[in-house]
Amino acid sequence: MNLESFPRVRLGHTSTPLEAMARLSRQVGTNIYVKRDDCTGLALGGNKARKLDFLLGDALHRGADTVLTCGAMQSNHVRQTAAAAARLGLRCIVLLEQKFAALGEAYRVSGNALLNRIFGASVQVFPEGTDLAAQLLTAAEHVRAKGGRPYVIPVGGSNPVGTLGYIECAAEIVAQARAMRLRIDHVVHASGSAGTQVGLVLGFALQGANVPVLGVSVGASLGVQEQKVRTLAASTADWFALPSDILHAGSVEVDAAHVGSGYGHPTQAMHEALVLAARTEALLLDPVYTGKAMAALITHARSGRFRRDDNIVFVHTGGAPGLFGYVAAFDYLSAEPSSSLDQTKERSA
Ligand SMILES: *Cc1c(COP(=O)(O)O)cnc(C)c1O
Repeated sequence: MNLESFPRVRLGHTSTPLEAMARLSRQVGTNIYVKRDDCTGLALGGNKARKLDFLLGDALHRGADTVLTCGAMQSNHVRQTAAAAARLGLRCIVLLEQKFAALGEAYRVSGNALLNRIFGASVQVFPEGTDLAAQLLTAAEHVRAKGGRPYVIPVGGSNPVGTLGYIECAAEIVAQARAMRLRIDHVVHASGSAGTQVGLVLGFALQGANVPVLGVSVGASLGVQEQKVRTLAASTADWFALPSDILHAGSVEVDAAHVGSGYGHPTQAMHEALVLAARTEALLLDPVYTGKAMAALITHARSGRFRRDDNIVFVHTGGAPGLFGYVAAFDYLSAEPSSSLDQTKERSA
């Protein structure tokens, strides 16, 4: 598959580094390497930059003048889409779902929500439970009725075109591992709308690289998330006419043990993983996605499934801007004066 043959715009800073995390590895008990997709540029980084390279390339190719998408109030995908549209001089309409009243005003106005407004996106907020995908089509009709040329990007940018971004990321990881003489035993990442997981799985398969990918569900139950990944993988393989045997039986692996109470709901294990990564490596995870994914990695290392001499590549998909929307979820830190930090020092001494 020749990625050069697809329309794209270069929005992100890729390739991103693949970095060894010695202090975190020592604490967790397995060798952790982080693929720094939190450093993709495009308005504070994250995995959506890679998808948007191809999605916005397609939008321009089709002559669109308005980009529409949707997500949670603190969606990183929405923030990076608003940024990409600003950069390309396109109008941007975003539909957001109001939720998590307990997180207070910061959730509604800070973090990604603030950035959407700074980028000049037209923001429409809907009550919890609204079918945003349906609203998106209605909004696109409005644009068309007024003579505009809409381009609709689904939630998370996860469709076959967006998936190209992570097919490319898999190729980057394979090349970097080869240059570092690194054997990769497992790739771990946060899985939401599934484009990242599908791109990685298809990308490694296309490289002929036998790299197991574990997608950590951040909201859906095991069965639902597996189905989401399989459905998008099938439509992507179909869309790009990939070999029909590209996926084998074990290609899709999902861990749904860290969902907690659901999408966007913090968990204790997420808090511990987030604080540990920050205090050992100054690596900023986020409460919705990467904190839960790192919690899963830690669980598998502690259970012995990931062994001490295994090399685990954690794909850091970004999300730190969301931290500022979640201030209320970190209130406990002021009641616990640096106890975790002391523990960390003790254990590594
Ligand atoms: C969107 C997002 C994910 C999930 O990626 P999908 O391709 O939707 O599965 C993971 N991490 C962060 C920070 C995200 O914003």
